[in-house]
Amino acid sequence: MKIIAGNWKMNGTRDSLDAMMCGLEKIETNNRVILCVPFTMLNGGNDVVAIGAQDVSAHTHGAFTGEVSAKMIADAGAKYVIVGHSECRQYHGDTNATVRQKAEMALANGLVPIICVGETMDEKQAGKTMAVIESGVRESVPSDTDSNIIIAYEPRWAIGAGLTPTASEIAEAHTLIAKTLSDMGLGGTPVLYGASVKGNNAADIMSIPNVDGVLVGGASLKSDDFIPIITSVN
Ligand code: PEP
Repeated sequence: MKIIAGNWKMNGTRDSLDAMMCGLEKIETNNRVILCVPFTMLNGGNDVVAIGAQDVSAHTHGAFTGEVSAKMIADAGAKYVIVGHSECRQYHGDTNATVRQKAEMALANGLVPIICVGETMDEKQAGKTMAVIESGVRESVPSDTDSNIIIAYEPRWAIGAGLTPTASEIAEAHTLIAKTLSDMGLGGTPVLYGASVKGNNAADIMSIPNVDGVLVGGASLKSDDFIPIITSVN
């Protein structure tokens, strides 16, 4: 069983989610399928597909105009929430510390956080990939939990770029993440790979040791692109 999570970013409407759900209802899979959609579509889940949000406030409630709390996301019917996505780190200034607070809020409200870590191109070129990944996990993941969490390794330079690291680079990153989680008492936590996953590379990526599934951006928007990824590992 693999976990196949889609991230719609700021795309789609309720009609497009309905169309996606119709397509997904027809497939047979043992994989866990999650769609992380904009806040306006959080009540769209069913038995085949669980719904997630793409970000959550680090605060419980109150004077934080425009923010959406973990309690509200759970109340709307979602089960998952992405935290620390590269775009939230880049555009909203999320740090590992904020990401950890957001993950804690999610857990406190019964949501499974999908916690993203990964290096920028500058960090990669400076030879800091492994250090960034390890500190990302140690600092973003609540360690005092035995709760349900998912990690996503997303090399930030590869997201939406049509680029992927080599299989051995992915293997090295995932081995480090698995070891770090084990050191933190969180062995067995699923770790997804994300960035430029498509129908033609998904099966190869998911055959790499310690890759428990994928987080998919652009190729999760249309059922013709997303379904081949889900069924590639049946
Ligand atoms: C993402 O946004 O998490 C992502 C992996 O995007 P893409 O698949 O488009 O690279």
